[in-house]
Amino acid sequence: TNENFTPEEVDFDKALRPISFSDFTGQEQILENLKVFVEAANLRGEALDHTLFHGPPGLGKTTLAHILANELGVGIKITSGPVLDKPGDLAGLLTNLDERDVLFIDEIHRLSPIVEEYLYSAMEDYKIDIMIETGPNARSVQINLNPFTLIGATTRSGLLTSPMRARFGIQSRLQYYSSELLATIVTRSSEILKMPITADAAIEIAGRSRGTPRICNALLRRVRDFAQIKGNGKIDLEISRFALKALNVDAHGLDEMDNKILLTLIDKFKGGPVGITTLATAVSESAETIEEVYEPFLIQEGFIMRTPRGREVTELAYKHLGRIKGSVQGG
Ligand code: ADP
Repeated sequence: TNENFTPEEVDFDKALRPISFSDFTGQEQILENLKVFVEAANLRGEALDHTLFHGPPGLGKTTLAHILANELGVGIKITSGPVLDKPGDLAGLLTNLDERDVLFIDEIHRLSPIVEEYLYSAMEDYKIDIMIETGPNARSVQINLNPFTLIGATTRSGLLTSPMRARFGIQSRLQYYSSELLATIVTRSSEILKMPITADAAIEIAGRSRGTPRICNALLRRVRDFAQIKGNGKIDLEISRFALKALNVDAHGLDEMDNKILLTLIDKFKGGPVGITTLATAVSESAETIEEVYEPFLIQEGFIMRTPRGREVTELAYKHLGRIKGSVQGG
């Protein structure tokens, strides 16, 4: 998912993106299974089953799609749900796939219903109908596609229709990364950037990255700027802390919306419990996005609890935000 990045950031991203199974850190269970499926598909000379990756942004869905194509030894074509406007756009992509190629569709929950329906027969029996000629001679003909693998990625699995979901033979949910794993990624990235980093600095950056590889790489990039301009060219703990402070990065790596959710729960709802729709309205975000993008991390890190009566903040959240339980603040 690169759509909001500058060309420079995209280059940086490319340089750091793992290209094979052995480069990829974490998500062990998923990787282990994928290795088996890829090996089996390679052995039989078949296309890999259609694969769905879901989970919060920046955890490696796009990266895994590239790795799969690489490990299958095939080409990859990349598109995204909102870009595929008409069935014709999709037909163009599908008919250009070589045998066993990968078609990667990011944000697959955002396909229009007609495009989605069109995809069904392509996924199921590698056939599509296309319209030829126009006017009175217009007719639809069925054409055969090369066997291919569709890899879909979504942050919002709840928005995927069930017929769509049912067509993916392989489905994996990516998890947030531990600080240890992120520290490994930061260290690997620094090596690629030829920027020496101390172990404690890598841990410091990792701990503030919201469990997300994309964030740890982005922070590393900024810290590197500070090390080169204000430090001695090496990333150590001191310059990391200095840079992270200057960048206003939260001690737990929580982002603006994370903090807004916690503050709203505390200040407007006395810490909860509060229903997800009420909370969503109060922070002006959709309930689905809160449930699928923000909440999983806040729960994992112990800031929020999900109870039968709704969401509740924990002691840790009060502590983190410097609030005292029981005292209500205005607004
Ligand atoms: P998503 O598609 O889930 O939003 P990406 O695959 O685009 O996430 O990952 C964002 C960036 O994070 C990648 O470019 C890559 O540099 C880095 N990254 C993601 N997962 C890993 C990993 N397991 N090991 C190392 N780097 C990773």
